[in-house]
Amino acid sequence: MNPHQRAAQAAARPPALDRLLARDAMQALIAHHGRTEVLAIAREQLAQWRALHEVAEAGQAGFDAQAFEAACARVLAGRAQPSLRPVFNLSGTVLHTNLGRAPLPAEAIAAVAAVMGGPGNLEYELGSGERGDRDAHLEGLLRELTGAEAATAVNNNAAAVLLVLNTLAQGKAVPVSRGELIEIGGAFRIPDIMRRAGARLVEVGTTNRTHRRDFADAIDSRTALVMKVHTSNYAVQGFTAAVPETELAQLCREHDLPFVVDLGSGTLVDLTRYGLPAEPTPRQSLAAGAQLVTFSGDKLLGGPQAGLIVGERALVARIKRNPLKRALRLDKMTIAALEAVLRLYRDPDRLAERLPTLRLLTRTRAELQALAERVAPALAQALGAHAVVQILPCRSQIGSGSLPVERLDSVCLAITPPPGLRRAGSFPQRLAAALRALPVPVIGHIADGQLRLDLRGLEAGAQEQSFVAQLAQLRSAAGAEVLPQA
Ligand SMILES: *Cc1c(COP(=O)(O)O)cnc(C)c1O
Repeated sequence: MNPHQRAAQAAARPPALDRLLARDAMQALIAHHGRTEVLAIAREQLAQWRALHEVAEAGQAGFDAQAFEAACARVLAGRAQPSLRPVFNLSGTVLHTNLGRAPLPAEAIAAVAAVMGGPGNLEYELGSGERGDRDAHLEGLLRELTGAEAATAVNNNAAAVLLVLNTLAQGKAVPVSRGELIEIGGAFRIPDIMRRAGARLVEVGTTNRTHRRDFADAIDSRTALVMKVHTSNYAVQGFTAAVPETELAQLCREHDLPFVVDLGSGTLVDLTRYGLPAEPTPRQSLAAGAQLVTFSGDKLLGGPQAGLIVGERALVARIKRNPLKRALRLDKMTIAALEAVLRLYRDPDRLAERLPTLRLLTRTRAELQALAERVAPALAQALGAHAVVQILPCRSQIGSGSLPVERLDSVCLAITPPPGLRRAGSFPQRLAAALRALPVPVIGHIADGQLRLDLRGLEAGAQEQSFVAQLAQLRSAAGAEVLPQA
């Protein structure tokens, strides 16, 4: 190495760390991310540079401070990105468990914001100045909306079922129809919950047909209660028979046993008034003679994750005394959100405007078609010659174990590869990945070699605008290797 080369190389080595950190760009990063964080990443980047440049070779590019700063900024931005983020749910499933189920109304978000930053009367009676009960914020509304004598709330409906069974049936037997031994996604299975609750499942009847006499034969001195489970995510069709709630309730009364209904989704209003298929309500089950009904807060009800238990006062009181209730109880943010959502039900006339779940479910084909015609050109422009965008009719599902066989007429943007594209087979997957890489990831679904974006999940107005605005970044977000090559 001649002296000239040696000098060039010396000039290309990185300066000392504090000299690097004193530069304007690094100071800006410190102001944003904090000194500790920037220092750690700068050290890491320098170590990487050294590892790559350990073996000095003549002609090798030297240290580039600007490239170093850009790399630090990129890593820091990635680390600052929250893990849990909003996405656009254009999957065609409105209540998508993996995408957080029900979107909350503005009223619920405001209620959460109002109580989360400081103290509140969570378990405190403002009238007497004495210790209160956190269920009190919900119980009155739940009684009003279901006709129940009493109510309590826990973490989710799985917890509600567990708590009911553990309280009323530990060490005892619970007959359930073989047609109702459900599995809900995410490892909720009736036989498993039953076991964990300490109860013994007694299978009754057959998969397709269960009769009153099957239950009557199963009941003996060890029976704790009879449970009916709503077959939320499937339908048994054809030669079938199930025992109506009124008959099971009658049978339970004859044997002095509680009759418990796990409604799964449940809804607090008659959905047919909004043009939707009928879904059973807790009020109906209670009127049919159920002593307890359990249902979810974040399915058709359209609220936060919660499990609701409504029914007879004495039974609810026993449930509330179970130490497991303490382990499964709701936090103040959920209670605030749930209370606000339940209040909306007092005005059913405006519910379809104010409750996002119902608003999404009641959108018309015409409305979605108009939205598609506004949005499709922006998507086509963003993709350029890389893809073909079409507006097609499709069918949305409600999801989360609600109305499993019903579909709602909807409209989607269907994206196909341009004619003659190489590697066209993996086109939908690559495009789906590119859409997921956007600042607000867009989740679609793949069918028949197309990527489909069901527009039922995209609200007109602010959501539509932010969806369109970020499409310009589609190519840079994806990177050339992800986005299909024309
Ligand atoms: C969804 C569902 C559950 C579980 O409810 P989570 O709120 O998801 O815990 C239990 N039973 C039935 C019938 C359901 O549909």
